[in-house]
Amino acid sequence: MQFINGELIAGSGEQIEVINPATAEVTGTLTAAEPADVDAAVQAAKNAFPAWSRLTPGERSDLMLAWAQALRDQADELAATESRETGKSIRLATGFDVPGSIDNTVFFAGAARHLQGLSAGEYWPGATSMIRREPIGVIGSIAPWNYPLQMAAWKILPAVAAGNAIVLKPSELTPSTTLAFARAASEAGIPPGVINVVNGYGRVTGEALVGHPDVAMTSFTGSTAVGRRIMEIAAGTGKRVHLELGGKAPFVVFDDADVEAAARGAIAGSLINGGQDCTAATRAYVHRSLFGEFTERVAALMEQIVIGDPSDEDTDLGSLISVAHRDRVAGFVERAQASGARVLTGGEAPQDVPAGSAFYRPTLIVGAEQDSEVVQQEIFGPVLVALPFETDDEAIALANDTPYGLAASAWTSSVNRSMRAAEEIAAGTVWINEHIPIMSEMPHGGYKSSGFGKDMSAYSLEEYTNIKHVLIDRSPGSTRDWHDAVFRDRG
Ligand code: NAD
Repeated sequence: MQFINGELIAGSGEQIEVINPATAEVTGTLTAAEPADVDAAVQAAKNAFPAWSRLTPGERSDLMLAWAQALRDQADELAATESRETGKSIRLATGFDVPGSIDNTVFFAGAARHLQGLSAGEYWPGATSMIRREPIGVIGSIAPWNYPLQMAAWKILPAVAAGNAIVLKPSELTPSTTLAFARAASEAGIPPGVINVVNGYGRVTGEALVGHPDVAMTSFTGSTAVGRRIMEIAAGTGKRVHLELGGKAPFVVFDDADVEAAARGAIAGSLINGGQDCTAATRAYVHRSLFGEFTERVAALMEQIVIGDPSDEDTDLGSLISVAHRDRVAGFVERAQASGARVLTGGEAPQDVPAGSAFYRPTLIVGAEQDSEVVQQEIFGPVLVALPFETDDEAIALANDTPYGLAASAWTSSVNRSMRAAEEIAAGTVWINEHIPIMSEMPHGGYKSSGFGKDMSAYSLEEYTNIKHVLIDRSPGSTRDWHDAVFRDRG
Protein backbone atom coordinates (compact mmCIF):
# COMPACT_ATOMS: atom_id res chain seq x y z
CA MET A 1 0.00 0.00 0.00
CA GLN A 2 0.94 3.63 -0.46
CA PHE A 3 -0.39 6.60 1.46
CA ILE A 4 -0.87 9.34 -1.11
CA ASN A 5 -2.88 12.53 -0.71
CA GLY A 6 -4.46 11.26 2.49
CA GLU A 7 -5.59 7.91 1.07
CA LEU A 8 -4.35 4.36 1.20
CA ILE A 9 -3.97 3.12 -2.34
CA ALA A 10 -2.42 0.06 -3.94
CA GLY A 11 0.68 0.53 -6.02
CA SER A 12 1.10 -0.71 -9.54
CA GLY A 13 4.34 -2.65 -8.96
CA GLU A 14 5.23 -6.10 -7.74
CA GLN A 15 3.95 -7.84 -4.62
CA ILE A 16 6.37 -7.94 -1.69
CA GLU A 17 5.82 -10.25 1.27
CA VAL A 18 6.36 -8.86 4.76
CA ILE A 19 7.84 -11.49 7.07
CA ASN A 20 8.06 -11.81 10.84
CA PRO A 21 11.74 -12.77 11.18
CA ALA A 22 11.20 -14.36 14.59
CA THR A 23 8.74 -16.93 13.21
CA ALA A 24 9.32 -16.89 9.42
CA GLU A 25 5.57 -16.26 8.99
CA VAL A 26 4.30 -13.96 6.26
CA THR A 27 2.42 -11.19 8.07
CA GLY A 28 1.31 -9.18 5.06
CA THR A 29 1.84 -8.31 1.44
CA LEU A 30 2.47 -4.93 -0.05
CA THR A 31 2.28 -3.75 -3.60
CA ALA A 32 5.32 -1.75 -4.57
CA ALA A 33 5.11 1.76 -5.96
CA GLU A 34 6.28 2.13 -9.54
CA PRO A 35 7.76 5.44 -10.74
CA ALA A 36 4.24 6.58 -11.78
CA ASP A 37 3.00 6.04 -8.20
CA VAL A 38 6.02 7.93 -6.87
CA ASP A 39 5.16 10.75 -9.24
CA ALA A 40 1.58 10.83 -7.94
CA ALA A 41 2.91 11.10 -4.38
CA VAL A 42 5.32 13.89 -5.32
CA GLN A 43 2.53 15.78 -7.12
CA ALA A 44 0.30 15.42 -4.03
CA ALA A 45 3.11 16.85 -1.89
CA LYS A 46 3.73 19.64 -4.37
CA ASN A 47 0.04 20.59 -4.33
CA ALA A 48 -0.14 20.49 -0.53
CA PHE A 49 3.03 22.51 0.00
CA PRO A 50 1.83 26.11 -0.59
CA ALA A 51 -1.05 26.03 1.91
CA TRP A 52 0.90 24.02 4.50
CA SER A 53 3.93 26.30 4.29
CA ARG A 54 1.73 29.37 4.77
CA LEU A 55 0.16 28.18 8.00
CA THR A 56 1.60 29.96 10.98
CA PRO A 57 4.06 27.89 13.02
CA GLY A 58 1.47 27.91 15.80
CA GLU A 59 -1.15 26.37 13.51
CA ARG A 60 1.25 23.66 12.37
CA SER A 61 2.25 23.08 15.97
CA ASP A 62 -1.36 22.56 17.11
CA LEU A 63 -1.91 19.95 14.41
CA MET A 64 1.31 18.17 15.35
CA LEU A 65 0.31 18.07 19.03
CA ALA A 66 -2.98 16.45 17.98
CA TRP A 67 -0.91 13.99 15.93
CA ALA A 68 1.13 13.12 19.03
CA GLN A 69 -2.12 12.37 20.85
CA ALA A 70 -3.31 10.15 17.98
CA LEU A 71 -0.03 8.24 18.29
CA ARG A 72 -0.42 7.87 22.06
CA ASP A 73 -3.90 6.40 21.47
CA GLN A 74 -2.42 3.63 19.32
CA ALA A 75 0.90 3.17 21.15
CA ASP A 76 0.34 -0.50 22.02
CA GLU A 77 -0.61 -1.42 18.49
CA LEU A 78 2.36 0.47 17.07
CA ALA A 79 4.72 -1.35 19.43
CA ALA A 80 3.27 -4.77 18.58
CA THR A 81 3.55 -4.11 14.84
CA GLU A 82 7.09 -2.76 15.18
CA SER A 83 8.14 -5.85 17.11
CA ARG A 84 6.42 -8.22 14.66
CA GLU A 85 8.02 -6.76 11.52
CA THR A 86 11.54 -6.25 12.89
CA GLY A 87 11.86 -9.14 15.36
CA LYS A 88 12.86 -6.73 18.14
CA SER A 89 11.68 -7.38 21.69
CA ILE A 90 8.35 -5.91 22.70
CA ARG A 91 10.07 -4.30 25.71
CA LEU A 92 12.31 -2.31 23.39
CA ALA A 93 9.43 -1.34 21.10
CA THR A 94 7.28 -0.29 24.07
CA GLY A 95 10.02 1.39 26.08
CA PHE A 96 12.10 3.03 23.36
CA ASP A 97 10.76 3.10 19.78
CA VAL A 98 7.19 4.22 20.39
CA PRO A 99 7.67 6.70 23.27
CA GLY A 100 10.74 8.10 21.50
CA SER A 101 8.68 8.75 18.37
CA ILE A 102 5.85 10.37 20.30
CA ASP A 103 8.30 12.58 22.20
CA ASN A 104 9.86 13.60 18.89
CA THR A 105 6.44 14.60 17.59
CA VAL A 106 5.82 16.77 20.65
CA PHE A 107 9.32 18.24 20.42
CA PHE A 108 9.00 19.26 16.76
CA ALA A 109 5.53 20.67 17.40
CA GLY A 110 7.28 23.05 19.81
CA ALA A 111 10.41 23.55 17.71
CA ALA A 112 8.25 24.71 14.78
CA ARG A 113 7.63 27.87 16.82
CA HIS A 114 11.28 28.53 17.65
CA LEU A 115 13.16 29.00 14.40
CA GLN A 116 16.33 30.94 15.17
CA GLY A 117 18.40 33.35 13.11
CA LEU A 118 20.49 36.52 13.10
CA SER A 119 18.87 39.73 14.32
CA ALA A 120 17.50 42.11 11.76
CA GLY A 121 19.73 45.17 11.69
CA GLU A 122 21.61 47.80 9.73
CA TYR A 123 24.70 45.97 8.49
CA TRP A 124 25.00 48.24 5.43
CA PRO A 125 24.69 52.01 5.39
CA GLY A 126 21.08 53.10 5.05
CA ALA A 127 19.71 49.58 4.73
CA THR A 128 18.07 47.03 6.96
CA SER A 129 18.89 43.34 6.54
CA MET A 130 16.89 40.47 7.88
CA ILE A 131 16.86 36.72 7.71
CA ARG A 132 13.96 34.60 6.61
CA ARG A 133 14.01 30.85 7.12
CA GLU A 134 11.77 29.25 4.57
CA PRO A 135 10.71 25.67 3.88
CA ILE A 136 12.38 24.09 0.87
CA GLY A 137 9.43 22.42 -0.86
CA VAL A 138 8.93 18.71 -1.42
CA ILE A 139 11.30 16.50 0.57
CA GLY A 140 11.97 12.91 -0.58
CA SER A 141 13.11 10.69 2.29
CA ILE A 142 14.29 7.10 2.51
CA ALA A 143 14.49 5.14 5.76
CA PRO A 144 15.98 1.81 6.93
CA TRP A 145 14.43 -1.17 8.70
CA ASN A 146 16.16 -1.09 12.08
CA TYR A 147 13.93 1.48 13.79
CA PRO A 148 11.19 1.96 11.19
CA LEU A 149 8.93 4.19 13.28
CA GLN A 150 11.69 6.31 14.79
CA MET A 151 13.48 6.73 11.48
CA ALA A 152 10.24 7.84 9.82
CA ALA A 153 9.70 10.26 12.71
CA TRP A 154 13.24 11.67 12.50
CA LYS A 155 12.75 12.37 8.79
CA ILE A 156 9.13 13.49 8.60
CA LEU A 157 8.81 15.62 11.74
CA PRO A 158 11.46 18.32 11.19
CA ALA A 159 10.50 18.52 7.51
CA VAL A 160 6.81 19.18 8.11
CA ALA A 161 7.39 21.29 11.23
CA ALA A 162 9.42 23.65 9.03
CA GLY A 163 6.56 23.82 6.52
CA ASN A 164 7.70 21.33 3.89
CA ALA A 165 5.66 18.50 2.36
CA ILE A 166 7.22 15.05 2.22
CA VAL A 167 7.22 11.70 0.47
CA LEU A 168 8.95 8.95 2.45
CA LYS A 169 9.90 5.44 1.43
CA PRO A 170 10.37 3.05 4.36
CA SER A 171 12.33 -0.16 4.02
CA GLU A 172 10.48 -2.82 2.04
CA LEU A 173 11.00 -5.11 5.05
CA THR A 174 9.14 -2.91 7.54
CA PRO A 175 6.39 -0.80 5.96
CA SER A 176 3.54 -0.87 8.46
CA THR A 177 4.38 1.50 11.30
CA THR A 178 5.42 4.20 8.84
CA LEU A 179 2.03 3.92 7.16
CA ALA A 180 0.36 4.07 10.59
CA PHE A 181 2.44 7.14 11.51
CA ALA A 182 1.33 8.98 8.36
CA ARG A 183 -2.30 7.94 8.80
CA ALA A 184 -2.26 9.20 12.39
CA ALA A 185 -1.16 12.60 11.05
CA SER A 186 -4.13 12.58 8.73
CA GLU A 187 -6.53 11.59 11.53
CA ALA A 188 -5.16 14.53 13.54
CA GLY A 189 -6.08 16.95 10.75
CA ILE A 190 -2.79 17.40 8.90
CA PRO A 191 -3.99 18.09 5.35
CA PRO A 192 -3.86 15.45 2.59
CA GLY A 193 -0.62 15.47 0.61
CA VAL A 194 1.57 16.98 3.34
CA ILE A 195 2.81 13.50 4.33
CA ASN A 196 2.93 10.70 1.77
CA VAL A 197 4.42 7.20 2.00
CA VAL A 198 5.50 5.06 -0.93
CA ASN A 199 6.61 1.47 -0.51
CA GLY A 200 8.91 -0.70 -2.54
CA TYR A 201 12.47 -1.62 -3.28
CA GLY A 202 15.27 0.92 -3.26
CA ARG A 203 16.36 0.36 -6.83
CA VAL A 204 12.92 1.14 -8.29
CA THR A 205 10.82 3.15 -5.84
CA GLY A 206 13.73 4.72 -3.96
CA GLU A 207 15.63 5.81 -7.04
CA ALA A 208 12.47 7.22 -8.64
CA LEU A 209 11.95 9.34 -5.54
CA VAL A 210 15.55 10.57 -5.25
CA GLY A 211 15.75 11.34 -8.96
CA HIS A 212 12.39 13.10 -9.20
CA PRO A 213 12.88 16.65 -10.49
CA ASP A 214 10.17 18.09 -8.23
CA VAL A 215 11.83 16.75 -5.08
CA ALA A 216 13.94 19.62 -3.74
CA MET A 217 15.87 17.71 -1.07
CA THR A 218 16.63 14.09 -0.27
CA SER A 219 17.14 12.95 3.27
CA PHE A 220 18.36 9.41 3.66
CA THR A 221 19.13 7.07 6.54
CA GLY A 222 20.75 3.78 5.67
CA SER A 223 24.03 2.20 4.71
CA THR A 224 27.06 4.15 3.54
CA ALA A 225 27.10 2.30 0.21
CA VAL A 226 23.50 3.23 -0.62
CA GLY A 227 24.08 6.76 0.70
CA ARG A 228 26.77 7.25 -1.91
CA ARG A 229 24.43 5.97 -4.61
CA ILE A 230 21.80 8.47 -3.39
CA MET A 231 24.33 11.30 -3.73
CA GLU A 232 25.07 10.26 -7.30
CA ILE A 233 21.41 10.27 -8.27
CA ALA A 234 20.71 13.51 -6.42
CA ALA A 235 23.58 15.14 -8.30
CA GLY A 236 21.60 14.60 -11.51
CA THR A 237 19.05 17.20 -10.41
CA GLY A 238 21.41 19.11 -8.08
CA LYS A 239 19.28 18.69 -5.00
CA ARG A 240 20.24 19.09 -1.38
CA VAL A 241 21.26 15.85 0.35
CA HIS A 242 21.13 14.90 4.01
CA LEU A 243 22.75 11.54 4.82
CA GLU A 244 22.67 9.50 8.03
CA LEU A 245 24.82 6.49 7.28
CA GLY A 246 26.55 3.55 8.91
CA GLY A 247 28.55 3.49 12.13
CA LYS A 248 31.18 1.46 13.95
CA ALA A 249 31.16 3.04 17.39
CA PRO A 250 34.22 2.65 19.62
CA PHE A 251 33.79 2.05 23.35
CA VAL A 252 36.96 3.13 25.16
CA VAL A 253 37.56 1.88 28.72
CA PHE A 254 40.41 3.76 30.41
CA ASP A 255 42.29 2.28 33.37
CA ASP A 256 40.40 4.47 35.88
CA ALA A 257 36.93 3.35 34.70
CA ASP A 258 34.29 1.63 36.83
CA VAL A 259 34.60 -1.80 35.21
CA GLU A 260 31.18 -3.04 36.29
CA ALA A 261 29.50 0.09 34.89
CA ALA A 262 31.50 -0.26 31.68
CA ALA A 263 30.61 -3.97 31.31
CA ARG A 264 26.91 -3.26 31.79
CA GLY A 265 27.13 -0.28 29.45
CA ALA A 266 28.77 -2.51 26.86
CA ILE A 267 25.95 -5.04 27.07
CA ALA A 268 23.23 -2.42 26.67
CA GLY A 269 25.23 -0.51 24.08
CA SER A 270 26.14 -3.48 21.91
CA LEU A 271 22.94 -5.53 22.17
CA ILE A 272 20.29 -2.82 21.83
CA ASN A 273 18.03 -3.76 18.93
CA GLY A 274 20.15 -6.89 18.41
CA GLY A 275 23.13 -4.64 17.64
CA GLN A 276 21.24 -3.39 14.58
CA ASP A 277 21.76 0.17 15.70
CA CYS A 278 24.00 2.58 13.83
CA THR A 279 25.41 3.88 17.14
CA ALA A 280 25.78 0.47 18.82
CA ALA A 281 29.02 -0.22 20.69
CA THR A 282 31.01 -2.44 18.36
CA ARG A 283 34.70 -2.01 19.26
CA ALA A 284 35.63 -2.09 22.95
CA TYR A 285 39.16 -0.76 23.47
CA VAL A 286 40.02 -1.67 27.04
CA HIS A 287 43.16 -0.75 28.99
CA ARG A 288 45.30 -3.88 29.27
CA SER A 289 45.14 -3.80 33.10
CA LEU A 290 41.32 -4.23 32.95
CA PHE A 291 41.03 -6.33 29.81
CA GLY A 292 40.61 -9.76 31.46
CA GLU A 293 38.14 -8.53 34.08
CA PHE A 294 36.09 -6.59 31.52
CA THR A 295 35.84 -9.37 28.92
CA GLU A 296 35.01 -12.03 31.52
CA ARG A 297 32.22 -9.88 32.93
CA VAL A 298 30.81 -8.98 29.50
CA ALA A 299 30.84 -12.64 28.46
CA ALA A 300 29.07 -13.63 31.69
CA LEU A 301 26.40 -10.95 31.22
CA MET A 302 25.92 -11.92 27.56
CA GLU A 303 25.22 -15.48 28.67
CA GLN A 304 22.41 -14.25 30.93
CA ILE A 305 20.56 -12.59 28.03
CA VAL A 306 17.15 -14.16 27.44
CA ILE A 307 16.69 -14.80 23.71
CA GLY A 308 13.35 -15.81 22.29
CA ASP A 309 9.82 -14.83 21.34
CA PRO A 310 9.95 -11.02 20.91
CA SER A 311 6.35 -10.68 22.09
CA ASP A 312 7.23 -12.19 25.49
CA GLU A 313 7.85 -9.45 28.09
CA ASP A 314 10.68 -11.53 29.55
CA THR A 315 12.66 -11.63 26.30
CA ASP A 316 15.75 -9.43 26.19
CA LEU A 317 16.89 -10.17 22.66
CA GLY A 318 14.60 -10.91 19.75
CA SER A 319 15.50 -11.92 16.26
CA LEU A 320 17.60 -10.11 13.67
CA ILE A 321 15.79 -8.61 10.69
CA SER A 322 16.13 -11.55 8.28
CA VAL A 323 17.85 -14.85 7.71
CA ALA A 324 20.00 -13.26 5.00
CA HIS A 325 21.16 -10.61 7.46
CA ARG A 326 21.75 -13.19 10.22
CA ASP A 327 23.91 -15.18 7.79
CA ARG A 328 25.85 -12.02 6.95
CA VAL A 329 26.52 -11.42 10.66
CA ALA A 330 27.54 -15.07 11.15
CA GLY A 331 29.88 -14.79 8.15
CA PHE A 332 31.81 -11.96 9.83
CA VAL A 333 32.21 -14.04 12.99
CA GLU A 334 33.29 -17.16 11.10
CA ARG A 335 35.87 -15.28 9.04
CA ALA A 336 37.23 -13.61 12.20
CA GLN A 337 37.68 -17.04 13.79
CA ALA A 338 39.32 -18.39 10.65
CA SER A 339 41.86 -15.58 10.82
CA GLY A 340 42.81 -16.29 14.43
CA ALA A 341 40.33 -14.34 16.59
CA ARG A 342 38.57 -16.14 19.47
CA VAL A 343 34.87 -16.15 20.27
CA LEU A 344 34.47 -15.96 24.08
CA THR A 345 30.71 -16.46 23.93
CA GLY A 346 28.05 -16.73 21.21
CA GLY A 347 29.08 -17.10 17.60
CA GLU A 348 26.04 -19.15 16.64
CA ALA A 349 22.26 -19.20 16.46
CA PRO A 350 20.54 -20.28 19.69
CA GLN A 351 18.90 -23.69 20.06
CA ASP A 352 15.12 -24.15 20.14
CA VAL A 353 14.03 -21.28 17.93
CA PRO A 354 11.48 -21.59 15.13
CA ALA A 355 12.72 -23.02 11.83
CA GLY A 356 13.53 -20.27 9.36
CA SER A 357 13.87 -17.60 12.08
CA ALA A 358 16.81 -15.17 12.26
CA PHE A 359 18.08 -15.32 15.85
CA TYR A 360 21.77 -14.98 16.73
CA ARG A 361 23.44 -15.21 20.12
CA PRO A 362 25.24 -12.26 21.74
CA THR A 363 28.85 -12.64 20.69
CA LEU A 364 32.13 -11.41 22.17
CA ILE A 365 35.28 -11.63 20.07
CA VAL A 366 38.86 -11.11 21.26
CA GLY A 367 42.19 -11.44 19.48
CA ALA A 368 41.12 -9.72 16.25
CA GLU A 369 43.54 -7.42 14.43
CA GLN A 370 42.76 -3.71 14.25
CA ASP A 371 42.80 -3.81 10.46
CA SER A 372 40.54 -6.89 10.17
CA GLU A 373 37.04 -6.58 8.71
CA VAL A 374 35.37 -7.44 12.01
CA VAL A 375 36.94 -4.27 13.50
CA GLN A 376 36.68 -2.05 10.44
CA GLN A 377 33.31 -2.85 8.88
CA GLU A 378 29.75 -2.49 10.09
CA ILE A 379 28.44 -5.93 11.17
CA PHE A 380 25.06 -4.65 12.42
CA GLY A 381 24.44 -7.57 14.75
CA PRO A 382 24.90 -8.52 18.43
CA VAL A 383 28.68 -8.76 18.10
CA LEU A 384 31.21 -6.90 20.24
CA VAL A 385 34.94 -7.05 19.50
CA ALA A 386 37.28 -6.28 22.44
CA LEU A 387 40.89 -5.18 21.96
CA PRO A 388 43.46 -4.11 24.58
CA PHE A 389 45.45 -0.85 24.55
CA GLU A 390 48.36 0.55 26.59
CA THR A 391 48.30 4.36 26.42
CA ASP A 392 45.68 7.10 26.12
CA ASP A 393 47.20 8.24 22.83
CA GLU A 394 46.84 4.73 21.45
CA ALA A 395 43.22 4.46 22.64
CA ILE A 396 42.18 7.67 20.92
CA ALA A 397 44.04 6.75 17.73
CA LEU A 398 42.35 3.31 17.64
CA ALA A 399 38.94 4.83 18.32
CA ASN A 400 39.39 7.06 15.27
CA ASP A 401 40.80 4.31 13.08
CA THR A 402 37.79 3.35 10.93
CA PRO A 403 36.09 5.20 8.08
CA TYR A 404 33.05 5.84 10.30
CA GLY A 405 32.33 8.61 12.80
CA LEU A 406 28.78 8.41 14.06
CA ALA A 407 29.09 7.83 17.81
CA ALA A 408 31.59 6.82 20.48
CA SER A 409 31.88 6.45 24.22
CA ALA A 410 34.68 6.78 26.75
CA TRP A 411 34.62 5.30 30.25
CA THR A 412 36.76 7.08 32.85
CA SER A 413 36.61 8.84 36.22
CA SER A 414 38.98 11.58 35.04
CA VAL A 415 37.67 14.94 33.89
CA ASN A 416 40.75 15.43 31.74
CA ARG A 417 40.33 12.14 29.93
CA SER A 418 36.61 12.84 29.45
CA MET A 419 37.35 16.18 27.88
CA ARG A 420 40.14 14.79 25.75
CA ALA A 421 37.92 12.01 24.40
CA ALA A 422 35.12 14.49 23.74
CA GLU A 423 37.48 16.72 21.79
CA GLU A 424 39.60 14.19 19.92
CA ILE A 425 37.22 11.42 18.93
CA ALA A 426 35.82 12.29 15.51
CA ALA A 427 32.15 11.39 15.91
CA GLY A 428 28.81 13.16 15.94
CA THR A 429 28.10 11.98 19.49
CA VAL A 430 30.58 11.23 22.27
CA TRP A 431 29.12 9.76 25.44
CA ILE A 432 31.14 9.73 28.66
CA ASN A 433 30.32 6.84 31.03
CA GLU A 434 27.23 6.03 28.92
CA HIS A 435 26.50 4.63 25.50
CA ILE A 436 23.25 5.06 23.47
CA PRO A 437 21.06 7.74 25.12
CA ILE A 438 19.45 9.95 22.51
CA MET A 439 16.91 12.65 23.11
CA SER A 440 14.75 14.89 20.96
CA GLU A 441 16.57 18.08 22.00
CA MET A 442 20.04 16.84 21.03
CA PRO A 443 21.33 16.31 17.47
CA HIS A 444 22.21 12.95 15.97
CA GLY A 445 24.41 12.67 12.90
CA GLY A 446 27.75 11.61 11.55
CA TYR A 447 31.29 12.63 10.78
CA LYS A 448 33.41 11.04 8.02
CA SER A 449 31.72 8.14 6.17
CA SER A 450 28.80 8.20 8.62
CA GLY A 451 27.32 11.07 6.63
CA PHE A 452 26.35 14.67 7.24
CA GLY A 453 23.32 16.58 8.40
CA LYS A 454 21.61 16.24 11.76
CA ASP A 455 18.49 14.40 12.83
CA MET A 456 16.43 15.50 15.86
CA SER A 457 16.96 18.81 17.69
CA ALA A 458 16.66 22.37 16.40
CA TYR A 459 19.65 21.70 14.14
CA SER A 460 17.57 19.19 12.22
CA LEU A 461 14.74 21.69 11.78
CA GLU A 462 17.26 24.10 10.26
CA GLU A 463 18.37 21.46 7.75
CA TYR A 464 14.91 21.52 6.23
CA THR A 465 14.90 25.27 5.61
CA ASN A 466 16.44 27.67 3.17
CA ILE A 467 18.00 30.78 4.61
CA LYS A 468 17.10 33.95 2.79
CA HIS A 469 18.75 37.33 3.24
CA VAL A 470 16.38 40.25 2.62
CA LEU A 471 17.91 43.75 2.37
CA ILE A 472 15.72 46.84 2.31
CA ASP A 473 17.52 50.02 1.32
CA ARG A 474 16.00 53.03 3.02
CA SER A 475 18.59 55.66 2.08
CA PRO A 476 17.38 58.78 0.27
CA GLY A 477 18.45 59.75 -3.23
CA SER A 478 19.56 57.80 -6.25
CA THR A 479 23.30 57.55 -5.57
CA ARG A 480 25.10 55.03 -3.38
CA ASP A 481 28.72 55.37 -2.26
CA TRP A 482 29.71 51.82 -3.19
CA HIS A 483 28.64 52.28 -6.83
CA ASP A 484 31.91 54.15 -7.35
CA ALA A 485 33.73 50.82 -7.25
CA VAL A 486 31.74 49.81 -10.32
CA PHE A 487 31.08 53.02 -12.22
CA ARG A 488 32.10 56.62 -11.68
CA ASP A 489 29.55 59.38 -11.92
CA ARG A 490 30.94 61.46 -14.78
CA GLY A 491 27.93 63.69 -15.04
P1 NAD B 1 20.12 0.17 3.23
O1 NAD B 1 21.07 1.25 2.87
O2 NAD B 1 20.26 -1.15 2.61
O3 NAD B 1 18.62 0.64 2.91
C1 NAD B 1 18.09 1.82 3.46
C2 NAD B 1 16.92 2.26 2.60
O4 NAD B 1 17.41 2.60 1.31
C3 NAD B 1 15.84 1.22 2.39
O5 NAD B 1 14.58 1.85 2.40
C4 NAD B 1 16.16 0.70 0.99
O6 NAD B 1 15.03 0.18 0.32
C5 NAD B 1 16.65 1.96 0.32
N1 NAD B 1 17.51 1.75 -0.84
C6 NAD B 1 18.34 0.70 -1.09
N2 NAD B 1 18.96 0.89 -2.28
C7 NAD B 1 18.53 2.07 -2.77
C8 NAD B 1 18.80 2.80 -3.95
N3 NAD B 1 19.64 2.36 -4.88
N4 NAD B 1 18.18 3.98 -4.14
C9 NAD B 1 17.32 4.46 -3.21
N5 NAD B 1 17.00 3.80 -2.09
C10 NAD B 1 17.61 2.62 -1.85
O7 NAD B 1 20.16 0.10 4.81
P2 NAD B 1 19.35 -0.90 5.76
O8 NAD B 1 19.98 -2.23 5.64
O9 NAD B 1 17.89 -0.75 5.56
O10 NAD B 1 19.68 -0.25 7.19
C11 NAD B 1 20.84 -0.50 7.88
C12 NAD B 1 21.83 0.64 7.63
O11 NAD B 1 21.27 1.87 8.06
C13 NAD B 1 23.09 0.48 8.46
O12 NAD B 1 24.21 0.81 7.67
C14 NAD B 1 22.91 1.50 9.58
O13 NAD B 1 24.09 1.95 10.17
C15 NAD B 1 22.19 2.59 8.86
N6 NAD B 1 21.50 3.46 9.81
C16 NAD B 1 22.02 4.70 10.05
C17 NAD B 1 21.40 5.54 10.96
C18 NAD B 1 21.94 6.91 11.24
O14 NAD B 1 21.23 7.69 11.86
N7 NAD B 1 23.15 7.24 10.81
C19 NAD B 1 20.25 5.11 11.63
C20 NAD B 1 19.75 3.84 11.36
C21 NAD B 1 20.38 3.02 10.44
